[in-house]
Amino acid sequence: MPDPLTPTTVLEVAVPAPLMGVFDYLYPPHQTNRLQPGIRVRVPFGRGTRVGLVMGLKATSDLPASRLRRVDAVLDGEPLLPDDLQRLLSWASAYYQHPPGEVFATAIPLGLREGRGLAEGEPAFSLTPAGRCTDDALLKRAPAQWRAFQLLFHSTDPLPASRLESLGPAWRRAIHALIARGWAAETRLAPALEPVPATADVPPELTPDQSRAVVAISRTAGFRCFLLDGVTGSGKTEVYLRCIRERLDAGQQCLVLVPEIGLTPQLLDRFRRRFPVPMAVLHSGLAEGERLRAWTAARDGTARIVIGTRSAIFTPMLQPGLIVVDEEHDASYKQQDGFRYSARDLAVWRARQLGVPLVLGSATPALESVENARSGRYERLVLAERAGTAGQPTVHLIDMRTHQPTDGLTQPLLAAIRRHLDDDGQALIFLNRRGYAPTLVCVGCGTVVGCDRCDARMVLHQQRGRVTCHHCGSDRPAPVACPQCQAELRAIGQGTERLEQALAREFPGHPLERIDRDTTRRRGEIERRLERVRSGEARLLLGTQMLTKGHDFPGVTLVGIIDVDQGLFGTDFRSAERLAQTFIQVAGRAGRADRPGEVWLQTLFPDHPLLRVLLSEGYGAFAARALEERQQAGWPPWSALALVRAEATQRAPVFAFLEEAAASARALVRDRAPAGLKVLGPAPAPMERRAGRYRGQLLLQATARRDLQRLLPEFRTALAGVPSQRRVRWSLDVDPAELF
Ligand code: ADP
Ligand code: ZN
Repeated sequence: MPDPLTPTTVLEVAVPAPLMGVFDYLYPPHQTNRLQPGIRVRVPFGRGTRVGLVMGLKATSDLPASRLRRVDAVLDGEPLLPDDLQRLLSWASAYYQHPPGEVFATAIPLGLREGRGLAEGEPAFSLTPAGRCTDDALLKRAPAQWRAFQLLFHSTDPLPASRLESLGPAWRRAIHALIARGWAAETRLAPALEPVPATADVPPELTPDQSRAVVAISRTAGFRCFLLDGVTGSGKTEVYLRCIRERLDAGQQCLVLVPEIGLTPQLLDRFRRRFPVPMAVLHSGLAEGERLRAWTAARDGTARIVIGTRSAIFTPMLQPGLIVVDEEHDASYKQQDGFRYSARDLAVWRARQLGVPLVLGSATPALESVENARSGRYERLVLAERAGTAGQPTVHLIDMRTHQPTDGLTQPLLAAIRRHLDDDGQALIFLNRRGYAPTLVCVGCGTVVGCDRCDARMVLHQQRGRVTCHHCGSDRPAPVACPQCQAELRAIGQGTERLEQALAREFPGHPLERIDRDTTRRRGEIERRLERVRSGEARLLLGTQMLTKGHDFPGVTLVGIIDVDQGLFGTDFRSAERLAQTFIQVAGRAGRADRPGEVWLQTLFPDHPLLRVLLSEGYGAFAARALEERQQAGWPPWSALALVRAEATQRAPVFAFLEEAAASARALVRDRAPAGLKVLGPAPAPMERRAGRYRGQLLLQATARRDLQRLLPEFRTALAGVPSQRRVRWSLDVDPAELF
């Protein structure tokens, strides 16, 4: 039974504003029925109004009633967000210590945030039974109505407004006249989604490994988290597709998350060909109208499959049955600004709430996930072999100390490329650095051309005749001589632009495609270039990280990796893991079809223990070794981290703030005395100055996540309260993906 409403009944509203906590409001005037959590309300806020989400109701507020303001308007008749999503938002707000109103704003499409309604389908018109029996001769003297009548008469389905536009500008008045006569009626079509193909693909026969995985996942009722650990090309996607099939047949919806650049047209095609059902596709490139339609269709159950990038984890579903996170190790699942959530971690929480299975898939699982599988929290499913006939590529190391490179290319690598091209193979060359050369140095005085706003070098982009900072985007004409001594400048090191020239010189007559952010700025350019590779027109393919995700190049038989050495000595505790993942993912592009592949790796450090384990024993052995190292050093998953970042145009306020932050953190630790909670820093960020701002950080590290979580609310309140916080821009990042 609903409680009787008293004049003081209070609504707790999450209002988009940079303040922790919900805000109390009084019921709107004349509201007689009880409002439910999950509906939107328009509330006065400051001098304006905002749209917020009702999170709860209570009898009284801590504030005196005289200070409470009233809700202006109630925007929804029923909860906009299902229960599980409301709980996810509250939990995420508390876990990441981010204001609930902003969490809510991140989770829903813009139109809804601004107070508009759910997507509606296009208006459509049809004749009423009375209209069907009428004599059209009665319309002889109203030619516009007569023509509209004819169109409706000859259509069995309601005609969308867009089809009536062919009647000219008078159509609307004509239709309304017919409606007024009682001969026609207006309806709404379901919100339009992607067209549904008529036929479905025939799936391949599963390998024994795949079958085992599908059976394990499909017979799970309730929550369980699976780590689908399968080498590249082992048919992980095929496993997802089969499990999705089972859930669709059971009348359930499926949510599939993919990394930012993994949502390729190929992948979508594969889903569309397999499942002739309505699908909602959600990614950052959508127009707001499209996003709202997709979101609405997922919410009302029209869309049976929801596929999207990071923020799709917040998509409401009517009948959820399965969540899949593809390439679960991918860094793009962690939002790096504002509300710094991890979509992968939220997927675990949401699946548990929903009581549905979750599949985390990767050839190179995050070390956290590897540990969760080892400890039994996740169930590990292994696909050890490539699907179809493809075998594993062989890997060769090239010692750059004995084989001096010219323009980045050693003789053994050139010879291998030549052999594969002569053999009608395609070669993929990977270099994760765009531009012509990363360093421009004076031969006279040794001055390096740097960015004025960052502690970083300017990268030479020779084709454009400019130098660019890859950290802040500063861009200016390339200097012709040393700004200090006027001597000659020399370009040191390779970027993809320089490598492209070198490869074109070495292999004239073999068409080459370069794929990096510079060559794919125009819309559709990346697809055009990939198509030239896939069709076999291009023989050589050169590119950055963009190439490593989700792309399938059946004709590539050789992968050349120009240099991974930066990653071997990275400053971040995740550097080694990232390097290993990149290496395995790039190498996995070789020989995916029926031809065996080869991988050639150039390095100055062929004896580096990490490389040795990775190459001789594979990612699993590497992960075990790396986890041991993490345990010794006390890094995650053996500890939980929270990072305070601060920046300002001057150094002093940054450190003044961080010192105060450190003092309050230490005081909290002392008062609460949780053993194993350490406050590290403050310290300058690895690149202290960036885009004209000084940056520093403070790290909280706890052996038990619970201890850290207990401390964070008070710590955040303390941060927001210290006087020095006004002079800096600061943020709190729980489970930071990178320490900078
Ligand atoms: P992953 O997602 O692990 O990279 P995919 O599912 O994309 O692997 O499979 C790699 C290739 O092998 C694809 O071309 C796919 O069509 C094919 N494939 C997958 N499973 C099978 C199978 N059981 N039999 C034959 N081919 C398969
Ligand atoms: Zn810069």
